[in-house]
Amino acid sequence: MGLIACPECKHQVSAKAPSCVKCGAPIAAQTIEATGKKWKMMQLCGAALIALGFVGLCSASSGAASSADANPAWMLLAGLVLTVWGRVGAWWNHA
Ligand SMILES: [Zn+2]
Repeated sequence: MGLIACPECKHQVSAKAPSCVKCGAPIAAQTIEATGKKWKMMQLCGAALIALGFVGLCSASSGAASSADANPAWMLLAGLVLTVWGRVGAWWNHA
């Protein structure tokens, strides 16, 4: 953790400070929001991987050629891991 610029007055304040020591603008709310976006992006990527995995599994079961290096089951698994990881990360940072 380091110093971040206050969104209001650009004064350097601790990223963990609840508000700017100079002007009182909320700081913690900003960092929590930014952190939340990171974990939401991770969950979004996980959901996309799960969707891709499902599409891959459906096309594989309908007889289309599936190569071993793009196994849809692995995509599903990776998507699930990313989604769970994003959820746990978001919970951990908000707790
Ligand atoms: Zn400020």
